[in-house]
Amino acid sequence: MSLSIVDKLKRRSASFIRVGQSPLSLEKPCLSLTIDDFPQNAWDNGRSILGDFGTKATFYVSGGFCNQVRLGLQQYNLKTLGEVHQAGHEIGCHTFDHYNACQVPLRRFLSSIERNAEFFKRHLPGVEIGSFAYPYGDMTALTKIALAKRFSSCRGAMHGINSNTAQAGNLLCVCLQLNDMWRYDLETT
Ligand SMILES: [Zn+2]
Repeated sequence: MSLSIVDKLKRRSASFIRVGQSPLSLEKPCLSLTIDDFPQNAWDNGRSILGDFGTKATFYVSGGFCNQVRLGLQQYNLKTLGEVHQAGHEIGCHTFDHYNACQVPLRRFLSSIERNAEFFKRHLPGVEIGSFAYPYGDMTALTKIALAKRFSSCRGAMHGINSNTAQAGNLLCVCLQLNDMWRYDLETT
Protein backbone atom coordinates (compact mmCIF):
# COMPACT_ATOMS: atom_id res chain seq x y z
CA MET A 1 0.00 0.00 0.00
CA SER A 2 1.38 3.41 -0.84
CA LEU A 3 0.39 6.82 0.39
CA SER A 4 0.31 10.00 -1.65
CA ILE A 5 2.43 12.97 -0.61
CA VAL A 6 -0.67 14.62 0.84
CA ASP A 7 -1.53 11.49 2.83
CA LYS A 8 2.02 11.34 4.15
CA LEU A 9 1.76 14.98 5.24
CA LYS A 10 -1.48 14.21 7.03
CA ARG A 11 0.21 11.35 8.83
CA ARG A 12 3.22 13.46 9.71
CA SER A 13 1.01 16.24 11.07
CA ALA A 14 -0.50 13.79 13.54
CA SER A 15 2.86 13.36 15.23
CA PHE A 16 2.86 17.04 16.26
CA ILE A 17 -0.32 16.71 18.26
CA ARG A 18 -0.19 14.79 21.50
CA VAL A 19 -3.51 13.44 22.65
CA GLY A 20 -4.01 11.96 26.08
CA GLN A 21 -0.39 12.33 27.12
CA SER A 22 0.03 11.46 30.78
CA PRO A 23 2.63 10.07 33.15
CA LEU A 24 2.56 6.35 33.81
CA SER A 25 2.56 5.30 37.42
CA LEU A 26 2.60 1.52 37.27
CA GLU A 27 3.97 -0.43 40.21
CA LYS A 28 5.59 -2.88 37.82
CA PRO A 29 5.95 -3.26 34.07
CA CYS A 30 3.03 -4.77 32.21
CA LEU A 31 2.57 -6.32 28.82
CA SER A 32 -0.47 -5.83 26.65
CA LEU A 33 -0.97 -8.40 23.90
CA THR A 34 -3.00 -7.22 20.94
CA ILE A 35 -4.07 -9.02 17.78
CA ASP A 36 -5.40 -7.08 14.81
CA ASP A 37 -8.01 -7.95 12.18
CA PHE A 38 -7.98 -11.07 13.05
CA PRO A 39 -7.31 -14.29 11.11
CA GLN A 40 -8.96 -17.50 12.27
CA ASN A 41 -5.60 -19.10 13.00
CA ALA A 42 -4.83 -16.39 15.56
CA TRP A 43 -7.57 -17.93 17.65
CA ASP A 44 -7.06 -21.57 16.63
CA ASN A 45 -3.39 -21.40 17.57
CA GLY A 46 -3.44 -18.67 20.15
CA ARG A 47 -6.30 -19.68 22.42
CA SER A 48 -4.45 -22.53 24.10
CA ILE A 49 -1.24 -20.50 24.43
CA LEU A 50 -3.10 -17.62 26.04
CA GLY A 51 -5.05 -20.09 28.17
CA ASP A 52 -1.91 -21.92 29.33
CA PHE A 53 -0.51 -18.66 30.66
CA GLY A 54 -3.82 -17.40 31.97
CA THR A 55 -3.35 -14.32 29.80
CA LYS A 56 -5.94 -12.11 28.22
CA ALA A 57 -5.39 -10.30 24.95
CA THR A 58 -7.13 -7.57 23.01
CA PHE A 59 -8.53 -8.53 19.62
CA TYR A 60 -8.98 -5.52 17.35
CA VAL A 61 -11.81 -6.41 15.05
CA SER A 62 -12.94 -5.08 11.69
CA GLY A 63 -16.52 -6.22 11.14
CA GLY A 64 -16.00 -6.23 7.38
CA PHE A 65 -13.45 -9.03 7.67
CA CYS A 66 -15.90 -11.49 9.21
CA ASN A 67 -15.96 -14.69 7.11
CA GLN A 68 -13.59 -13.14 4.56
CA VAL A 69 -10.29 -14.35 3.18
CA ARG A 70 -7.64 -11.65 3.36
CA LEU A 71 -4.04 -11.89 2.24
CA GLY A 72 -4.64 -15.60 1.78
CA LEU A 73 -5.77 -16.06 5.36
CA GLN A 74 -9.24 -17.10 6.47
CA GLN A 75 -10.50 -14.45 8.85
CA TYR A 76 -12.56 -14.98 11.99
CA ASN A 77 -16.25 -15.85 11.91
CA LEU A 78 -19.08 -15.01 14.30
CA LYS A 79 -18.59 -18.21 16.27
CA THR A 80 -14.93 -17.36 16.79
CA LEU A 81 -15.77 -13.83 17.82
CA GLY A 82 -18.20 -15.15 20.42
CA GLU A 83 -15.59 -17.60 21.73
CA VAL A 84 -12.98 -14.86 22.06
CA HIS A 85 -15.39 -12.74 24.03
CA GLN A 86 -16.60 -15.65 26.16
CA ALA A 87 -13.00 -16.50 27.04
CA GLY A 88 -12.67 -13.04 28.58
CA HIS A 89 -10.50 -11.34 25.99
CA GLU A 90 -11.08 -7.71 25.16
CA ILE A 91 -12.70 -6.80 21.86
CA GLY A 92 -11.48 -3.53 20.37
CA CYS A 93 -12.45 -1.51 17.33
CA HIS A 94 -10.38 -1.50 14.13
CA THR A 95 -13.00 0.24 11.91
CA PHE A 96 -15.51 -1.84 9.96
CA ASP A 97 -13.75 -1.31 6.64
CA HIS A 98 -10.14 -1.36 7.79
CA TYR A 99 -9.68 2.14 6.44
CA ASN A 100 -6.39 3.96 6.49
CA ALA A 101 -7.16 7.20 8.33
CA CYS A 102 -4.92 9.16 5.95
CA GLN A 103 -6.71 7.96 2.84
CA VAL A 104 -10.35 8.63 3.61
CA PRO A 105 -12.15 11.77 4.79
CA LEU A 106 -12.67 12.05 8.53
CA ARG A 107 -16.44 11.64 8.18
CA ARG A 108 -16.04 8.37 6.29
CA PHE A 109 -13.52 7.11 8.83
CA LEU A 110 -15.86 7.92 11.70
CA SER A 111 -18.84 6.34 9.96
CA SER A 112 -16.83 3.15 9.57
CA ILE A 113 -16.34 3.19 13.35
CA GLU A 114 -20.09 3.63 13.76
CA ARG A 115 -20.71 0.72 11.43
CA ASN A 116 -18.35 -1.40 13.49
CA ALA A 117 -20.21 -0.39 16.64
CA GLU A 118 -23.44 -1.57 15.01
CA PHE A 119 -21.76 -4.85 14.10
CA PHE A 120 -20.71 -5.40 17.72
CA LYS A 121 -24.12 -4.39 18.99
CA ARG A 122 -25.76 -6.96 16.74
CA HIS A 123 -23.37 -9.84 17.39
CA LEU A 124 -21.97 -9.10 20.85
CA PRO A 125 -24.82 -7.23 22.54
CA GLY A 126 -23.85 -5.37 25.68
CA VAL A 127 -20.11 -5.49 25.04
CA GLU A 128 -18.30 -2.25 25.81
CA ILE A 129 -15.76 -1.26 23.17
CA GLY A 130 -13.26 1.03 24.85
CA SER A 131 -10.11 0.70 22.80
CA PHE A 132 -9.14 1.24 19.21
CA ALA A 133 -6.24 0.31 16.94
CA TYR A 134 -5.53 2.26 13.77
CA PRO A 135 -5.49 0.07 10.65
CA TYR A 136 -1.95 0.23 9.20
CA GLY A 137 -1.04 2.30 12.26
CA ASP A 138 -1.80 5.48 10.32
CA MET A 139 -3.63 8.43 11.84
CA THR A 140 -4.19 12.10 11.23
CA ALA A 141 -4.36 15.00 13.68
CA LEU A 142 -8.13 15.10 13.17
CA THR A 143 -8.69 11.42 13.84
CA LYS A 144 -6.54 11.58 16.96
CA ILE A 145 -8.64 14.41 18.35
CA ALA A 146 -11.96 12.87 17.33
CA LEU A 147 -11.22 9.40 18.65
CA ALA A 148 -10.03 10.68 22.02
CA LYS A 149 -13.67 11.51 22.75
CA ARG A 150 -14.75 7.98 22.00
CA PHE A 151 -12.02 5.56 23.11
CA SER A 152 -9.94 5.42 26.25
CA SER A 153 -6.94 4.26 24.25
CA CYS A 154 -5.86 4.20 20.61
CA ARG A 155 -2.93 2.10 19.48
CA GLY A 156 -0.81 3.00 16.49
CA ALA A 157 2.00 0.98 14.96
CA MET A 158 4.94 3.16 15.95
CA HIS A 159 7.66 1.04 17.46
CA GLY A 160 8.45 1.65 21.09
CA ILE A 161 7.71 0.94 24.71
CA ASN A 162 5.36 3.16 26.65
CA SER A 163 7.48 4.14 29.61
CA ASN A 164 7.37 7.07 32.03
CA THR A 165 4.68 8.71 29.94
CA ALA A 166 2.19 7.38 27.43
CA GLN A 167 0.02 8.99 24.82
CA ALA A 168 -3.40 7.35 24.99
CA GLY A 169 -4.14 8.70 21.53
CA ASN A 170 -1.19 6.87 20.03
CA LEU A 171 0.13 4.05 22.17
CA LEU A 172 3.43 2.65 21.00
CA CYS A 173 3.88 -1.05 20.33
CA VAL A 174 6.38 -3.69 19.42
CA CYS A 175 5.14 -5.39 16.28
CA LEU A 176 5.67 -9.13 16.14
CA GLN A 177 4.68 -9.39 12.49
CA LEU A 178 7.30 -10.65 10.07
CA ASN A 179 8.78 -7.22 9.52
CA ASP A 180 5.98 -6.21 7.17
CA MET A 181 5.33 -3.07 9.13
CA TRP A 182 8.98 -2.08 9.08
CA ARG A 183 9.18 -2.35 5.32
CA TYR A 184 6.00 -0.34 5.11
CA ASP A 185 7.42 2.42 7.29
CA LEU A 186 10.61 2.59 5.31
CA GLU A 187 8.73 2.87 2.07
CA THR A 188 6.47 5.65 3.14
CA THR A 189 8.58 8.02 5.23
ZN1 LIG B 1 -5.42 -4.33 10.66
